[in-house]
Amino acid sequence: MVSRVIPVEPFDLVIFGGTGDLARRKILPGLYRRFLSGQMPPEARIIGAARTDQDDAAFRNFVGAAIKEFVPKNRCDPKAIDRFLAQISYITVDVRGDKGWNTLAKMIRSDVVQAFYFSVGPGLFGDIATRLNDYKIATPLSRIVVEKPFGRDLTSAKELNAVLAASFEEQQIYRIDHYLGKETVQNLMAVRFANVLFEPLWNAQYIDHVQITVAETVGVGGRGGYYDKSGAMRDMVQNHLMQLLCLTAMEPPAQFEPDAMRDEKLKVIRALDPVDASDIVRGQYGGDPSYLDDCENPASLTESYIALKVDISNWRWKGTPFYLRTGKRLKGRMSEIVVHFKETPHSIFDDDAGRHANILSIRLQPDEGIDLRVTIKEPGPGGMRLVDVPLDMTFADALGPEAKDVPDAYERLIMDVIRGNQTLFMRGDEVEAAWAWTDPIIERWQARRDKPKTYEAGSSGPEDALMLLHKDHRRWREIKA
Ligand code: NAD
Repeated sequence: MVSRVIPVEPFDLVIFGGTGDLARRKILPGLYRRFLSGQMPPEARIIGAARTDQDDAAFRNFVGAAIKEFVPKNRCDPKAIDRFLAQISYITVDVRGDKGWNTLAKMIRSDVVQAFYFSVGPGLFGDIATRLNDYKIATPLSRIVVEKPFGRDLTSAKELNAVLAASFEEQQIYRIDHYLGKETVQNLMAVRFANVLFEPLWNAQYIDHVQITVAETVGVGGRGGYYDKSGAMRDMVQNHLMQLLCLTAMEPPAQFEPDAMRDEKLKVIRALDPVDASDIVRGQYGGDPSYLDDCENPASLTESYIALKVDISNWRWKGTPFYLRTGKRLKGRMSEIVVHFKETPHSIFDDDAGRHANILSIRLQPDEGIDLRVTIKEPGPGGMRLVDVPLDMTFADALGPEAKDVPDAYERLIMDVIRGNQTLFMRGDEVEAAWAWTDPIIERWQARRDKPKTYEAGSSGPEDALMLLHKDHRRWREIKA
């Protein structure tokens, strides 16, 4: 396979929060990888902007160290790193004050794409947008990239949308959800919409149910205080799991084009039923340290785990539930969408031949890939015995080793911003619709002071989550250690 890298136009990319954790672990190493693959033109410039007082050399040292820490050794060519660093500079800016803004205004070129990445706490998003406008830095060629969380409820999301809209058009606003930048998520679009095999079966008539899991092994650790104000519903379900659900459930758009895609996702969110209290299980991990220790709040009612059954009221999905679950300190780290098809309506084989249903799994991590379990005859003598085997559609095997070197979600999404492609970014109305569905669920458990169930650290979550599927005669996929 020959990889096809399309260089982008020259650009100025300002990373507000350039000294932060996300910039260090994801954004800057990702940009280096794009540079290595020839996508970053020599005229492109990356400008770190943060509160720390330091010069270009100090920031370049920081970026060099981040590359060495987060990019595989075989790609850390010292000469390439030096060439990359030569395109990087730094400016001290207080996004809440005046410091640095006039200097930044002079630095930014008005005749190239300007991308402003808001990699700072959500409380600062509005300040940056407003100052970019007040200091006349923003032009029609400007784009802003807004990190999560986008609000904490419908009211705050609307307020944030309004603040951003006062300075930028919707076509200039890129609300990032890095799950959408994953290779497999886009492959889900290809599997669904570029094959004739799946789409005719992609509905309640043939699909029994769908499971979407995002399991983490880590606890809330050092960010317990922040997490405790949020919880799994706000931190994961409202955004990431919701986006995965939308891509699985949406109607085929007429084109693979930003607004066509986002219109279809929005329709799914608007078709979601309210969730019954009995269809939600919330949990907090026990152990040492437990969730309550990590968040330093012994009375916390915030969930570090949630499982819920979601129904979509439309022609395609009525009767096919989507089960979502996500949690911290679980047995394994995995993210997947699993589509469980129905059994054949009738089996022509003896009962002891066995019976299996087709299962299509789309793994986002750890090993990105797609496989379809199909039923075949167990080879050899002994009569007709059926087994299910995976038809592995993992790209690396089929397309050669180069396919394994897929861009990380962040690097792909940043390049999409520079190219002006909003397909994999959330639109303002989508985010608001997701909060409109989420808010009543959270408000209900807050009103009842609902206490999450304790689950053992390193387990698959609370026992009650198993029951959520058992009562429907179904079983969760195993979370592998
Ligand atoms: P961080 O606390 O590590 O970094 C914050 C950055 O903001 C620093 O560079 C700091 O100098 C800068 N900053 C703070 N106040 C400032 C001010 N007044 N003026 C100028 N700069 C200021 O945070 P982070 O973990 O890098 O997260 C950044 C954003 O990305 C947040 O919105 C977070 O929710 C989101 N996010 C982070 C991660 C992650 O893995 N770290 C993952 C997903 C989303």
